[in-house]
Amino acid sequence: MKKYDAIVIGSGPAGNSAAYGLKEQGKNVAIIESDLWGGTCPNRGCDPKKMLMSGVEAQKRIETMIGKGFEQAPKIVWEDLMTFKRSYTDSVPQNTKDGLDAAEIDRYQGQASFIDANQIVVDDQNLAADQFLIATGQRPSVLPIDGQDLLQSSTDFLELEHLPKKIAFIGAGYIAFELAVIASAAGSEVHIIHHNDHPLKEFDQDLVTDLVEHMKSDGIQFHFNVNTKAVELLHPQYRITGENIELTADMVIGATGRVPNVEGLNLEKAGVNYDKRGISVDDHLRTSQQNIFACGDVVAKSQPKLTPVAGFEAGYVVIAMNGESEEIEYPMIPTIVFGDQRLARIGVSERELAAHPEKYHSQTMELSRWYTYHRINDQGAKIKLIYDEEDKIAAITCLSQLADEVINYLLIILTKKMTHEEVEKYIFAYPSPASDLSYFI
Ligand code: FAD
Repeated sequence: MKKYDAIVIGSGPAGNSAAYGLKEQGKNVAIIESDLWGGTCPNRGCDPKKMLMSGVEAQKRIETMIGKGFEQAPKIVWEDLMTFKRSYTDSVPQNTKDGLDAAEIDRYQGQASFIDANQIVVDDQNLAADQFLIATGQRPSVLPIDGQDLLQSSTDFLELEHLPKKIAFIGAGYIAFELAVIASAAGSEVHIIHHNDHPLKEFDQDLVTDLVEHMKSDGIQFHFNVNTKAVELLHPQYRITGENIELTADMVIGATGRVPNVEGLNLEKAGVNYDKRGISVDDHLRTSQQNIFACGDVVAKSQPKLTPVAGFEAGYVVIAMNGESEEIEYPMIPTIVFGDQRLARIGVSERELAAHPEKYHSQTMELSRWYTYHRINDQGAKIKLIYDEEDKIAAITCLSQLADEVINYLLIILTKKMTHEEVEKYIFAYPSPASDLSYFI
């Protein structure tokens, strides 16, 4: 039986990056992948989504300039946009494999399953290791309703050869919002169905309401406080029924969250504890079994399950597996809903803000008349600053076409605890989004 110092299970942003780190420490390393090499983010997550979004951004940019030098917005040709997406995604698995081979990290294709805490089986091959890292990520959850097999997922959407005329999303999290914007801009009639009237609950609800209104004005239809009960096939359409809804669509996408990939791993045999939120780890990302660690989306944690968080944990766990780590401390994490209008936040969570309203106060600035936003006709651009009892900024939410860029600058300013005077010492290029920063702080 082949024996390694460390075996990594899962080749997404977490596992892949950790495998390189472990190898750099001089370890004899293997990595196992059951599906596409590179994992969710570059194959069926962030990157393909943003390749498609790129067409939307171009179209919407002109749409905002109609009457200001342009007469009509261009039409998206879905098939061409998909070809553009594939120009990036098609080569991801092979590039990932080539990189691992060049680094002399052994690769195994197949579903890894523990035999005990020191052995796994991949297909018919048994492998042993002193240490394991589980980085198996998540997959879309399936809503337990009648006709659940008819539901499709974000993965199906990102592979669509032809765009359906009418698409319904069940669930109103960030993935539904983003894919809805893409589908609508490309010409579909889009519906979002949600069981309450608090979509994107991790974001400031005032600015979420603004975003919803903006999407409605683009033709996206929201159905709030609707419990979907069943989906049935009417050939060729689907019918969605619930307490107060009956809707037909050409495609129904279940977007009600993601669940950890733990089932096939046989974790009981390895003595690794988990629950429906994922694998339990301590402050060193060590599981209930001494020699087995876990990182990335598969871990049960309060931090958002995002690629840079998976990458941060991978960097940390490489040190932890050498027995040299302090307890993990996460830096401030930005979260973004991409679209033509982007919603971005950093700082104290909405849950904390809601739990202690007496501790915080806020100020909202309308930005659309500011030069930076006026220039791009960014109607509805806003920033909301939340202050604590000492008048220090505790959280920031931005809604604008530039929110993703601006939130990253603000992330550095808040992390470094920079004052207004310190920000003013910098000369930022003008005119640019950064040249407004001192007005926010
Ligand atoms: P994954 O990338 O999921 O990789 C885990 C790998 O393990 C998979 O390849 C899987 O096949 C493999 N695996 C599972 N079980 C086994 C097994 N038993 N044996 C062997 N291999 C196994 N994040 C952002 O930061 N920004 C975004 O804009 C963003 N957009 C997203 C859009 C969509 C539609 C989705 C679905 C996700 C998005 N994310 C985004 C989240 C991001 O993709 C994940 O946070 C990231 O991929 C997590 O990395 P990971 O390595 O933990 O898991």
